[in-house]
Amino acid sequence: MHLKINLAMIECLSMKKIIIIGGGFAGLSAAKKLCRIRNKLAITLIDKKPTSDFLPMLPDIIGRDIRPEALSFPIQGFCQTLGINFVNEAVASLDLENKRVSTDKNQYEYDYLIIASGSQTTFYGKHELKTCAYTLDCVEDAKKLRTQLQQNRSNTYIVCGGGYTGIDVATSLQRYLNKHSKEKNIIIVEASPSILGPLPEWMKQSVLNNLRRLNIKILNNHTVEKVEGDNVFISGEKTYQNAMLIWVAGVKTPDYVQKLNTEKDNKGRLKVDRYLRINESCFAIGDCANFSCKNQSLRMAVQFSIHQGSFAAQNIIRSIAGKKLRKYRPLDLGYIIPLANNYSCGKVLGINIKGRLPTLLHFIMSIYRSWGLRNKLMVLRDLV
Ligand SMILES: Cc1cc2nc3c(=O)[nH]c(=O)nc-3n(C[C@H](O)[C@H](O)[C@H](O)COP(=O)(O)OP(=O)(O)OC[C@H]3O[C@@H](n4cnc5c(N)ncnc54)[C@H](O)[C@@H]3O)c2cc1C
Repeated sequence: MHLKINLAMIECLSMKKIIIIGGGFAGLSAAKKLCRIRNKLAITLIDKKPTSDFLPMLPDIIGRDIRPEALSFPIQGFCQTLGINFVNEAVASLDLENKRVSTDKNQYEYDYLIIASGSQTTFYGKHELKTCAYTLDCVEDAKKLRTQLQQNRSNTYIVCGGGYTGIDVATSLQRYLNKHSKEKNIIIVEASPSILGPLPEWMKQSVLNNLRRLNIKILNNHTVEKVEGDNVFISGEKTYQNAMLIWVAGVKTPDYVQKLNTEKDNKGRLKVDRYLRINESCFAIGDCANFSCKNQSLRMAVQFSIHQGSFAAQNIIRSIAGKKLRKYRPLDLGYIIPLANNYSCGKVLGINIKGRLPTLLHFIMSIYRSWGLRNKLMVLRDLV
């Protein structure tokens, strides 16, 4: 799998301009691989944020008192160490034909582009909810949510979205409230007939039993209609007064990706070929790419983002060297639904597991995948 970069191959490389959009798992992984031959490449990483946020542990800022700074990794320092250029700007549009990236401030030209700008919350056209709902897209969002909890203004917390993030958030809220001896209502609102949509039945049952134990109410086949002040209106249900809305009902790719005139799925993820490209000079990886394998789209997950980052980087090096590109073959290690009362469940290496073991594995993997020793140690210290 690993590319052997021999001298002859490096000789073939001229100073190519490479741009990576997004400093998340996929983007940083690509940068790390490409920097091995940084003397032959001009690499620029662009991100709208100065930090790379460790998203899988955002609910733990609420439920487990993880310090926000433990989950924020400064991109500038990382790029400096790798010897690559970092630009802290938001990409506004792409001109794939003329190989140009436009940000809110500048324009950049590239020979090869890697789109790794992940996904963000979608309100499915209910724009008015944006201003009154809390989201969980980055560390700043988790901090805001925690501050709001500390102010203790609401009696009811409505989590809109019954996917694994919604479940994790709801149980984290309950953990926080129990710890501070506060009795409040937590309600998960899910538009479809069941939480955790495509997951196996045993897993759904395990999560449902757990949520029942935690006194978290689930409203399937319901949606949030509107919010007026502290009142949250649920379709066909009563209105919850003095309530707070946390919206984790789905994601889409950033606007500049949605605007591209290329094939996408219903979330706006870019459909890539087996080399992870959308055209000869542009690769798309991580959450903003849709790689289809045996007619099934690969799910959004950290393991695939990291692997695709280094894989796309290797293919760029091969392309510059005039070598045949390699086909991407995903390796699925499994997944875990983390629950904050430690009764998690998941499927790891093909084995169904539930209880404390998946919780432990989730945190071991989170520490392993955190960027930077300082962040790893901070997470470890806050967890124990
Ligand atoms: C709350 C939560 C919990 C999760 N839990 C898990 C879990 O337990 N296990 C798991 O495998 N996955 C989990 N995920 C999903 C996982 O975090 C994603 O699959 C992963 O982060 C995708 O990596 P990425 O590099 O593609 O994108 P990201 O990590 O989202 O990085 C994208 C980067 O692009 C930048 N960006 C976006 N738009 C622009 C722009 N216009 N211009 C410049 N920069 C831009 C962003 O600032 C960001 O730094 C979770 C996600 C969330 C939100």
